[in-house]
Amino acid sequence: MSKQTELDKIKEDILKDKVCPELAKSATQLVFGEGNPDADIVFIGEAPGKNEDLQGLPFVGVAGKFLNEMLDGIGLNRGDVYITNIVKYRPPENRDPLPDEKAAFLPYLRAQLAVIKPKLVVLLGRHSMGSLLPPTLSISQCHGQPKRLDGQVYLPLFHPAAALYNGGMRQTLIEDFNKIPRILAAI
Ligand code: URA
Repeated sequence: MSKQTELDKIKEDILKDKVCPELAKSATQLVFGEGNPDADIVFIGEAPGKNEDLQGLPFVGVAGKFLNEMLDGIGLNRGDVYITNIVKYRPPENRDPLPDEKAAFLPYLRAQLAVIKPKLVVLLGRHSMGSLLPPTLSISQCHGQPKRLDGQVYLPLFHPAAALYNGGMRQTLIEDFNKIPRILAAI
């Protein structure tokens, strides 16, 4: 079975298993993920926003435009990587995803990673970081520092939406992002 077919099956499982039915009811559609199933790098955000909910694709609004610019800065485009979120339906009024929502989607996120087998998983923001790394870690302390856990290398970064309108955080995020090629080469 091709990796894409395996990913399609995980998407079907989320629908079949009726994960987070309340969120599913208020959302337009499932935003599963997008990109290259053979990617070396997977980016994981928090949850779809309004534009993502309408288009069915992750990171297509202003935060996505910023992510595209940072990818361009290291010589990559969206077709080179895979992009997804921990929670795959838009939370109402863009509220933070709840702990039980993140927990409900975690097995499917892990299944996506098991299919893609990336060298590097980039965790965008505290929600995605807290889902895959120990909850005691704080993003303000460990952003930009690769962590190895159970044979997988993770890189926590500030979330592009949080950094977009905060000059200092924006600069830090760009500097951390620019470390990606060196981190990847060292794996
Ligand atoms: N923010 C996220 O965390 N994910 C998206 O897909 C869009 C914005």
